[in-house]
Amino acid sequence: MAVSSDCVPGIKETVVTINSSWCKKCGICAAFCKKKVLVQHKNKTIGIENSENCVGCKTCINLCPDYAISLEVKEQ
Ligand code: SF4
Ligand code: SF4
Repeated sequence: MAVSSDCVPGIKETVVTINSSWCKKCGICAAFCKKKVLVQHKNKTIGIENSENCVGCKTCINLCPDYAISLEVKEQ
């Protein structure tokens, strides 16, 4: 789980979660996250880094073939 900062005006705080039970480690989400929030480690697992850069675009969610990613938008 990662929590992004709310320091950018207009961008709400988000929480990205990977369901590791459903993730097949294909790496699509990491490859297409332009903000480099999702990264694929050498052992193929997906890590959530630079979480403060998440802009809530949902690209990762829309591309994940296994519905393993969820995004919560926090109320401010
Ligand atoms: S796209 Fe989905 S299944 Fe593929 S690595 Fe990312 S979370 Fe896992
Ligand atoms: S919502 Fe967008 S910026 Fe955030 S982790 Fe997914 S692809 Fe990256």
